[in-house]
Amino acid sequence: MSFDETLLQLRLIARKKGKYVMNKLFDDYLTGAFDKERTISCLLCGSESNITKEHVLPKWVFESDPKRTFTTDVNQLPQKYIGTTLPMCSTCNTDILNTLELYIQKTISEVDLKTKYYSSENWENIIRWLETIDYKFQLMDITTKFRAHKEAGYIPFLADFSIAEMRDFSIRTIKSKARLSLKRISTKDKSKRANSLIVGTTKVKTFNYFHKSGQFIHLELPKYNKVFFYFFEREFEDDDDIETEVMELIKSVYEVDE
Ligand SMILES: [Zn+2]
Repeated sequence: MSFDETLLQLRLIARKKGKYVMNKLFDDYLTGAFDKERTISCLLCGSESNITKEHVLPKWVFESDPKRTFTTDVNQLPQKYIGTTLPMCSTCNTDILNTLELYIQKTISEVDLKTKYYSSENWENIIRWLETIDYKFQLMDITTKFRAHKEAGYIPFLADFSIAEMRDFSIRTIKSKARLSLKRISTKDKSKRANSLIVGTTKVKTFNYFHKSGQFIHLELPKYNKVFFYFFEREFEDDDDIETEVMELIKSVYEVDE
């Protein structure tokens, strides 16, 4: 299967199976009974066979470091990237998403920003890849229970709610955000999205990441000396506008962390 065929396959799955997958997901984790018995199925195509573990953030991005964690905003608890996986069938995991990963990793590593820039084809494929990460994080927030808060500890009456519910409160909002995230994956044309992604060079030594579901993603990849920032919905007139906005966001995130 060529790379373009893999992308087509991904769009077709999102279009044809998306409705079923979304409805099952919502029933299993949002609107069904708390103690509902669930059949584990692929969160991309809905298949119930050959289920594997798909890393939400690919291992090459966090350099397979078992110690690296991210903090979930609503409960402030650290979670290890290495253990953050979603059920997906081997076809979706290996044939589709892994093919996309390998292509992106190669694309990102090959371009030296001092001498060359990304082709529009590569640029749009990076956008497609970032959209799959947003989708996976949204799935994770829906399928993960709140459990406890860093400061408040275990909170019995909130423990069984999902991270997504604790963030967005409204089931309707969660559903439409997830559906929109999947719709982005099913849409081929990314030409209008080109101005919403920027890349720069970085000298930092450790990988950095932050993400606001359905809004933006920031990825700093020291191995490739590159930093990416993408807005999933917003559109920008030119590079100056997006750069100003990104600098402010980065500043506010790292100040909060200190
Ligand atoms: Zn699948």
